[in-house]
Amino acid sequence: MTQVQTTIAIVGCGGLGVPAAWTLALAGAPRLVLIDDDTVEVSNLHRQILYDGTVLGQSKPDALRAALQARMATVDIEVRQGRLSSDTLVDLLAGCDAVFEGSDDANSKFLVNDWAVAQPRRRFASIAAAIGRRGQWMAVSPESSCYRCLFEEPPPPELLATCQVAGVIGPVVGQVGALAARSLWAVLNGQPDMAHGALVRLSPRGLLRTPVQIARDCRCGRGQPC
Ligand SMILES: [Zn+2]
Repeated sequence: MTQVQTTIAIVGCGGLGVPAAWTLALAGAPRLVLIDDDTVEVSNLHRQILYDGTVLGQSKPDALRAALQARMATVDIEVRQGRLSSDTLVDLLAGCDAVFEGSDDANSKFLVNDWAVAQPRRRFASIAAAIGRRGQWMAVSPESSCYRCLFEEPPPPELLATCQVAGVIGPVVGQVGALAARSLWAVLNGQPDMAHGALVRLSPRGLLRTPVQIARDCRCGRGQPC
């Protein structure tokens, strides 16, 4: 795949999605699709650093598009208002080749994974999460293991710590969003990357890489004999 043809969706234009979109635009991504249904709040500003007090109450993808185009006018940016679900996925990701998943919704991460591994299209994803002082991400390509090879199913809602409960450190999401976006750009362009088919975790101790084997019984079907 050449860079010229690539359309990358950013699912979630918050603490992870903002640095991810910025990183991809700086890397040379020609076309971004920004997806979110949220608005900018004061509590977002410490970590969603392309927003400021002048865009409070505005749609996040609209505010992010304006901020990116003020810096890099050559990037083609489309806004799609909405939240990813099994009902909205086809419309929201129409025409996209790759997805950066940085929302706070665990189900959305599995939906993006299943979209990425669906045949016969060659699709790519980087699936990121951060909470407190920790973050993690995994890049999925047509040749790699997938998010379900590792986690199988989303955790039950009662086990999920949210940013509202656990808090999130601004520089952590900034680093994870940027690094996870860089991983997506690498796998899209056939370059080696530490998160390709591996879970990379960022903690106060540094980066830890755990390779993810293709699971024989995963629904992605990549462990089945041809
Ligand atoms: Zn799998």
